[in-house]
Amino acid sequence: MNIDIPRNVCQIIKKLESSGFEAYIVGGCVRDAFLGKTPKDYDITTSASPEEIKKCFDDCAVIETGIKHGTVTVVSEGENIEVTTFRIDGEYIDGRHPEKVQFSKNLLDDLSRRDFTINAMAYNPRVGLIDNFGGQSDLFNRRIVCVGDPSVRFREDALRILRAMRFASELDFEIEENTAEAIHNMKGNLANISEERISEELTKLLMGESPCNVLINYSDVISRIIPEIKPCIGFDQHNRYHIYDIWKHSAVSVEHSKHQEEVRLALMLHDIGKPGCFKLDDEGNGHFFGHEKIGAEMAEKILRRLRFPNDVVERTAKLIKYHYVTPVNDYKVVRRLLATVGEEDFFLLAEVMKGDNRAKHSSCFERVHVLEAMSDKAQEIIDKKLCIKIADLAVSGSDMIELGFSGAEIGEVLKSLLDAVLDEKIGNTYDELMDYAENCHNTNP
Ligand code: ATP
Ligand code: MG
Repeated sequence: MNIDIPRNVCQIIKKLESSGFEAYIVGGCVRDAFLGKTPKDYDITTSASPEEIKKCFDDCAVIETGIKHGTVTVVSEGENIEVTTFRIDGEYIDGRHPEKVQFSKNLLDDLSRRDFTINAMAYNPRVGLIDNFGGQSDLFNRRIVCVGDPSVRFREDALRILRAMRFASELDFEIEENTAEAIHNMKGNLANISEERISEELTKLLMGESPCNVLINYSDVISRIIPEIKPCIGFDQHNRYHIYDIWKHSAVSVEHSKHQEEVRLALMLHDIGKPGCFKLDDEGNGHFFGHEKIGAEMAEKILRRLRFPNDVVERTAKLIKYHYVTPVNDYKVVRRLLATVGEEDFFLLAEVMKGDNRAKHSSCFERVHVLEAMSDKAQEIIDKKLCIKIADLAVSGSDMIELGFSGAEIGEVLKSLLDAVLDEKIGNTYDELMDYAENCHNTNP
């Protein structure tokens, strides 16, 4: 099979070859091309040393960012293309990165250090495909297989454990038996990996096409990263709306939701507060009063520990805190909820609630339609620019000062004006608001 390579990438390969070096596209771009996907970027691997690469491209802009590891970035037609010298990774002592890298003149050395067979193929338009580890056949059979002995490869770099799981989710592939066994056995080595790299792979896993089976089959690995999920695994909810245990329900809900980072993080963690809130009533029904609030607090701690950015932590916690409101397709209810969570988060919350209900007993599926209708109403309210926050009121703090309010009172009166508008007791007009505020003033001097 031929791979269509963009012109600028081809030119770099030709230039290296005409200077007497070997050069191939390698890794993710070859994999994606065979899958019929447009590669995100093209990486080039070459027998030229970093100095030789620089010399070859002395007429282009080059960036030396990764030069110690053999990577020179060549800027071609405004695009950054990474060109890396064939490499042998030295010994891994810390379970994270090689002590030193050694450059090589042999492509096979470079392919052997790569993580999975599907990521260890190289291609050159003149030579064709170089596939020493059966990557093409594993692509065809939809399998993630380690290059070499999986235990050795995961001991070298435990991040590969999560990479295997995220590729399984992204590509909807199975993880081959020996590789899977090593993942379960070697998961303790994730302790060597920084939180930032863990959370990056975890997000990619959640954002994949098929996260559900990975979350379920590798729940032991996920609970190495997030021990708080352990009590959720296998927890029978004793509730007629639920057909799955808590963790399975969470995993199914992730897969049936919008591809949005905070929505999927929230769904993974939305019921994490449940085991701690569990009560059985006299009829044997399970209840989890307050689980959403406790869950939001737990999620905030977990995501901070994993070093997710502040805005992601806060939004995810907020989505969990409100995920349990009852969906009612009523104008006033929608407007209230909009006022509580804000314009942007309303729609994400609706997505979380849809995912949650899609993962319950079929009697709950109707709620997904209710949530869709609620989103339409919310959009209508936004389009009509109806008042949903203090800043939207037709009066301001200085109007309240004119009425004689001062200090903290001003905020309190504005808040009660907003409540009255949201409850449709009064309209959002200057006269009605000033009248209402004056009454407030009279009753609360
Ligand atoms: P994506 O499409 O997500 O970028 P990718 O396969 O290109 O996937 P990268 O992280 O960009 O992934 O890495 C590029 C290539 O480098 C991989 O295809 C693989 O061959 C190799 N690689 C990356 N990380 C590792 C690792 N931790 N261990 C071994 N090889 C790795
Ligand atoms: Mg890549």
